[in-house]
Amino acid sequence: MGRKKLTPPFQLRPGVRISAKQQAEMQADWLNKQEMVRICRMLHQKNLVAATDGNLSLKVGDKLLVTPSGVNKGFLREEQILTVDQEGRLLEGEGKPTSEMALHLAAYRLRPEVAAVIHAHPPLVTAFSIAGVSLEDFVLPEVVMSMGVIPTAAYATPTTPDVPASIRELLLSYDALVLERHGALTVGVTLMDAYNRLEKMEHAALIIFSALQLGKVQPLPPREVEKLLRLKMT
Ligand SMILES: [Zn+2]
Repeated sequence: MGRKKLTPPFQLRPGVRISAKQQAEMQADWLNKQEMVRICRMLHQKNLVAATDGNLSLKVGDKLLVTPSGVNKGFLREEQILTVDQEGRLLEGEGKPTSEMALHLAAYRLRPEVAAVIHAHPPLVTAFSIAGVSLEDFVLPEVVMSMGVIPTAAYATPTTPDVPASIRELLLSYDALVLERHGALTVGVTLMDAYNRLEKMEHAALIIFSALQLGKVQPLPPREVEKLLRLKMT
């Protein structure tokens, strides 16, 4: 069995040797960064972020891969992704980690099973929170079955320690939160998992927004919501 070829830019100079273990680690690191770039492009294409908005992270062993601050997510490149330790200190890469680093670190501390965190500014989800309308009041059955109701964390000044404090209670029970007047936070065991929650959240907000334009919207009776929540548990 031949060794797998390294993906650029990990072609080493002639004469430089690395162990098979190092080679495998470099390859895995590159694949993780490729996945992060793919999700960043999706966030940008789906209008879930604009310009340099939003940030995402992936837990790999005792380290985190994080997006840098001030980079447009539609144009992020693998080599711009930074590696930090569990306190958010820079280990590898050039640039400054995301300004919402503390939010990501808090999510991993609160939920040890979580391996991916995404923070974005989905327009309709954010608009609902500015208008003071909670997504919790308008239930879509399949959204409840896949991720429960979507609560809103109280307003906190972006990039300050108030943001991680605002999510503490809710994140213990939910995988997708609205951040009042700011955006959304989703977590998952994979990046795709966290991304799907975010996409679904904004899609649900679009459906609810459309329904509200069409006429009077009836909330789903609480007993039906309970039934859905029981189905989600099983
Ligand atoms: Zn933000």
